[in-house]
Order: sequence, then C-alpha cells, then structure tokens
Amino acid sequence: MAILLWFRNDLRLHDHEPLRQAVRSGEPVVPVYCFDPRQFGQTGFGFPKTGAFRAQFLRESVADLRANLRHLGSDLILRQGYPEVILPEVARQVKASHCYWHQEVTSEEIAVEQAVTLALKVLDCSSQGFWGTTLYHQADLPFKLVQVPPVFTQFRKQVERYSNINPALVAPQTLPPFPADLTPGEIPPLTTLGLTPIERDHRAVMAFKGGETAALDRLDAYIWQRDRLRHYKETRNGLLGEDYSSKFSPWLALGCLSPRRVYEAVQAYEAKRIKNDSTYWLVFELIWRDYFRFICCQQGDRIFRASGIQGIPIPWKQDWQRFERWRAGQTGYPFVDANMRELAATGFMSNRGRQNVASFLTKNLGIDWRMGAEWFESQLIDYDVCSNWGNWNYTAGVGNDARGFRYFNIPKQAQDYDPEGTYVKWWLPELAQVPAAKVHLPGQLQPVEQKRFQVQLGVDYPQPLVDLKGSAKANQALYDQAINRRRRT
Ligand SMILES: Cc1cc2nc3c(=O)[nH]c(=O)nc-3n(C[C@H](O)[C@H](O)[C@H](O)COP(=O)(O)OP(=O)(O)OC[C@H]3O[C@@H](n4cnc5c(N)ncnc54)[C@H](O)[C@@H]3O)c2cc1C
Repeated sequence: MAILLWFRNDLRLHDHEPLRQAVRSGEPVVPVYCFDPRQFGQTGFGFPKTGAFRAQFLRESVADLRANLRHLGSDLILRQGYPEVILPEVARQVKASHCYWHQEVTSEEIAVEQAVTLALKVLDCSSQGFWGTTLYHQADLPFKLVQVPPVFTQFRKQVERYSNINPALVAPQTLPPFPADLTPGEIPPLTTLGLTPIERDHRAVMAFKGGETAALDRLDAYIWQRDRLRHYKETRNGLLGEDYSSKFSPWLALGCLSPRRVYEAVQAYEAKRIKNDSTYWLVFELIWRDYFRFICCQQGDRIFRASGIQGIPIPWKQDWQRFERWRAGQTGYPFVDANMRELAATGFMSNRGRQNVASFLTKNLGIDWRMGAEWFESQLIDYDVCSNWGNWNYTAGVGNDARGFRYFNIPKQAQDYDPEGTYVKWWLPELAQVPAAKVHLPGQLQPVEQKRFQVQLGVDYPQPLVDLKGSAKANQALYDQAINRRRRT
C-alpha cells in the first residue's frame, strides 16, 4: 500500500497539509506531477494557455521540488499526460490506497479533480483534497462560502476580526523511501510543450527563477537583507526594478511559497525591526488574494462570463485590429505601451501597470475584457486564475465594485507614477529624446518638436489610437444602457 501525493499549484514542501498527512500515515509516499496537455493548449481566443515565461518558471519549480524531495530520500514522478490517466497508472503500479492533493476552486481544475477521483475509485484508491492556498483557511472563515461578503472591505474586516491565520506547517526532515521500480521521468523541454524557448530580457524587473528554494531566498532578501518591507506602502506603486514591491506573486501562484509563511516572516520582522503601515499593507494585499479566491468559490463560472459577476450585459467589441495594437504596445499612449511591451518581453507587469492597461482596453477601447484576461493568462509568469479573472472583472466594471463606471486617466496616472518618464523611456527607446513634460502625450507634439525630439509620429511611434475623453464617454453610455437593461430584466 502507498499514498499518492499529487502536486499541482503547490510546488513546495513547507506548509503542505497533504504531504504532512501522507507522511503521518507511515505508508510509502509517491509524489507525482503531471504536465497536463490541457494546460499547454490554447485559450478560447487562441493564445497559448501557458506561455513560454510561465512554462519555463514551472519547469524550474518542478526541478527544484524534485531536488528537494530527493534530498529527503524521496523523488518526484514526472509524466506528460492527463492526471486522470497517469494517477491511476501509478496507483496500480504501487498499489496505492489513497491519493492526496490540494484542492482548486475553478471549473477546469475541479473537473480534473472529479475525473481523477472517479478513475481512482475503480481501483479502490480513495481521494482526498485539502485546502491550502490562502492565508485564512476556508474552515476558519466567519461566514459560509455562499455568504462571502461581496465587497472587499467587508470581507477583510470580518476575517481580520473573527478569524485567525494558522501557523505555516514545517517541511518534513525526511521522507519515506520511494519505490525503486518506478521510472521517475523527465521534465519536458519547452519545445515538447509546444513552446519556443525564450531569452531573458535584461530590462526585466528581476530574473525570476522558479521553485521553493528561490522563493524562500526572495522572501529573505526582500524582507531581511534588502530591508524593503518597512517602505512597502510608499513604494508598491513603482514600476522599475526589483524592490518597489515584493515580487512574491509568481511563487505564490505556483505554490512555491505559502502566504502563511509570508505572514510569519512579516510578524517576525515586526517583532525584530519595525511594525508600521507598510508591514501591515503587505498582509492587506495578501487578503485581496484570499478575497478573489473565495469570491471564485462563491461565484463559480460567472467570473469567466462577459457580463461578469454582476451580470451586466455590456456589448463588448471583439475588435482584433485595435486589440493587436494594445497587445503589441502600439496604442500611441506611452504608459499603456510601455507596460504592454514589458509584459510581452518579460511575463511581468506591475500592479499599477495592470490596472491602467486593463482600464484602457475596457473603458477606452470598449474591447471584450476576456480577450485581455486571456492574454494575461497566457503571458503572466504569476498567472493565478482567481487573481487574474477576479481583477479583470473588477477593472472591466462587471465585478463586485460598487462604484460603477470608473476609468483611469492614463496621462494623469503616468504623470503621478512616472513623472520623469523614466519608465516609459525604459521600454520605448523611440521616445528617449522627448522631455519629461511631453513624453506621456507624444500625440500632441507639433511637427517641429517631432523633428527636434527625433520621433516622427506615425513612423517611429504611433498616433493615439483613440481620444481618451471621447472614448470613455462613449463607453460609459454603453455601460449605463447595460445597467438599465439589467434593471428591466
Ligand atoms: C488586471 C489584473 C490582473 C492581475 N492578474 C494577477 C494574476 O494573474 N496573478 C496575481 O498573482 N496577481 C494578479 N494581479 C494582482 C497584482 O497586480 C499582482 O499580484 C502584483 O502586481 C504582483 O506583484 P508583487 O508580488 O510584487 O505584489 P505586491 O504588491 O508585493 O503584493 C504582495 C502580494 O499580494 C497579492 N496581491 C497584491 N495585489 C493584489 C491584487 N490586486 N489581487 C490579488 N492579489 C494581490 C499578490 O499575491 C502579491 O504577490 C492582477 C491585477 C490586475 C489589475
């Protein structure tokens, strides 16, 4: 008899409930990871579901997990294929009695869990999913999942007041030996996953390396060595370099890092160095992450619908020509373009950038927000189904935001967060000679200025794709009509 341990978006040994339960059973433990072909197919709008940046980060994370398991006397079985086919094969070989994993909350992932459970049941192998991705455990919420407060502030206040954050579980010191007759398998190269290998771009905020080891190194570096936590609240809206925010998201998304481990590090820092608004704010942001996950549990597939959680029937456009200009960073608005080029070149974008480009796509271009969400899903190294689709719902105005049609004033945002134009020039070298005062609105440059600043509009850099105020007004009218239509039905 043995216990199968199915690793998914939980590629770590610390704070891992299924691993702890498996070790406690005293049975042989067989860890397995499946490269599921469905994750390497295409999204509905035809983008690679897992683009090369995240696929590479995933490969590194799996390699690190295997190395850490081997270090403790175990191993990781690697296979390419459907978990509902692979896990029963392995279960048969090792005569597994149980299979443990961390639960997911969205439909594609739940469907796979159900298929695995059924396939294992035939073999008399029972399955058990564990909760494990959030700061607050689902069982400790002060409300039922169907009653998760729709507004973030209400959610936060209630969990902060009535729930506790459990301690992170410690990683095991040793593991039961791995059955010798199993072929461990190899990590598929990117080309086998249908992707073209990528070169790291030297302009990236940092060199992200997948895996628990790198995650814990980053936690240590950001909080202790570089001592950045004390300034987090003031710097978190930055755009350049590794220190403006924690950059924990890629590791959190693949589960290389547990949010409870981050929380404990914050507490230790508060005890030893300083407790201030910034130290609290990092935890505050992690509560946003929890919020979107619990909202996804509550709302099911509504988060993927064009009309979103609120069911607002906005007539979104699927204008591919304009979408391509947004995607390529060719809208004529440097703040949008710099962010979109950063995403395409590195797989990362700051939170400030994400909010602005999402607002521009939906509120200025009126384009179907799901196209943007899928492009993010494809590109982001930190893609997390709940955080991504939840934030897109929010920004598109179809999520739980009570404030109606709100849009970002792009040049104002650019002026506030990039007053010298350093960020836009970092990604748009064609604007290098344009002075800071004019760099966020190059569409207003007169021909003589274009000559002086060595940028010819329509040749070196595009003319603005839309008029900002006019387009927002037109899309607001569509939004208002949709709200009225929803009221009448
Ligand atoms: C349109 C859009 C799409 C997004 N897609 C994703 C996504 O796929 N994956 C993802 O992890 N985040 C997503 N975010 C949230 C946020 O932009 C990133 O979590 C953040 O930029 C990651 O950088 P960081 O780790 O340095 O963040 P920090 O500022 O250091 O925050 C610490 C952690 O808090 C959490 N967090 C912070 N802001 C948010 C937020 N708004 N929503 C949920 N969690 C948050 C993240 O886990 C983050 O790592 C999205 C935001 C927008 C507006």
